[in-house]
Amino acid sequence: MNISAEFVTSAAGEADFPRNGAPEVALVGRSNVGKSSAINGLVRQRIARTSAAPGKTRLANVYRVGRGSALYLIDLPGYGYAGGDRHGLDHVTRAYFGRAGRPSGVHRGRSTPGSGERSAEVGVTIAALLLVDARHPGLESDLGAWRWLQSAVERSAIVATKIDKLARGQRIRALRELESAFDDPVLPISAVTGEGLDDLWKLIDHLANNRNSSRRRSNRLKDLRKATAP
Ligand code: GDP
Repeated sequence: MNISAEFVTSAAGEADFPRNGAPEVALVGRSNVGKSSAINGLVRQRIARTSAAPGKTRLANVYRVGRGSALYLIDLPGYGYAGGDRHGLDHVTRAYFGRAGRPSGVHRGRSTPGSGERSAEVGVTIAALLLVDARHPGLESDLGAWRWLQSAVERSAIVATKIDKLARGQRIRALRELESAFDDPVLPISAVTGEGLDDLWKLIDHLANNRNSSRRRSNRLKDLRKATAP
């Protein structure tokens, strides 16, 4: 499938976030976990700046992606280094998720002025992907971010990055530890080898387009399996 992608803006606050009602999937995670690399891997070009120096970006980078339909990928500031608040998630991240479920200002359906018909204002779809390093399962900062995200958005999923750095036996152990720490399914990816990126697209499509997601673990597991089934 053809993928088009462009950088839109670096957002410092609510005024800079997208407003056209297209679904948004935000990547959240510690600095250096591989958010920018995952975006580059997904869109198969280097649009997101990757860095070996952690904790630099305090802005949310917004990318518009066309892949069948349009959606936004949002690279949120990394947490886990000095500069975040005491919960680790900075004000841009909180402002970003503060919009979840709020009307987007977009109207769908027919509504003719004077017809008396009210058009429904559609809430913007905001989903979150929590990226965690496959080599460090169950870090307190990641667990705290996951708890916070689950209270902030209806749709979220966990992705384990840098899976290429683990040998087969270590992977199985790490994934088991991750799933048990988060009590949720975890999708392993590598931006270096490309492993898991097709499944990540399926998961993103699912989060962006499927309105009836449930937080119950059994359903989330089913959702993830369905989304990543061949
Ligand atoms: P961000 O701060 O979360 O956006 O992290 P980056 O995408 O900038 O990645 C931080 C560092 O990890 C860079 O040196 C990347 O090359 C490296 N990295 C990211 N993803 C992977 C991966 O899947 N495998 C490996 N081996 N390295 C990765």
